[in-house]
Amino acid sequence: MDMRNLKLINYCWGCGAEHDASEVNYDQNATDKTVKCHCGGNIVTPSGKVQLQVVPAVPVWLIEDGSETFRVAAADDEQALQFMIDDWGMEDIEDVEVTVITDQEELRRKFILSEEGSKTYLSIMDVLNQTEKFPTLISTSIW
Ligand SMILES: [Zn+2]
Repeated sequence: MDMRNLKLINYCWGCGAEHDASEVNYDQNATDKTVKCHCGGNIVTPSGKVQLQVVPAVPVWLIEDGSETFRVAAADDEQALQFMIDDWGMEDIEDVEVTVITDQEELRRKFILSEEGSKTYLSIMDVLNQTEKFPTLISTSIW
């Protein structure tokens, strides 16, 4: 799998906290492979079990202005909103709601038409994976 713009996360078995998998190091050959979370729970169990998930390396923001829905990949919510104002001419940002999309099903749901006239649908993860430059518009309710 091409991991561009995506990263691997390990979840703590105790508290569910996310840990960047590249920073969770353990010895494959050790008898006890335990890696502890700050909560005292295990990120890696003694036998080496992990909870693994591929997630966006750049957060994806849902921007709703009451009539339209946009999804933007950007470093933070301010950058996402500024991008909509600068590049897409968004006005009336008084009542705009910006929330981060973390739901794994939503990130993998194939609902974005890949190109005009095509019948191929992509997920947010698919679009992220093809993106060269951020911030970027992932989808709008118009297309
Ligand atoms: Zn924990």
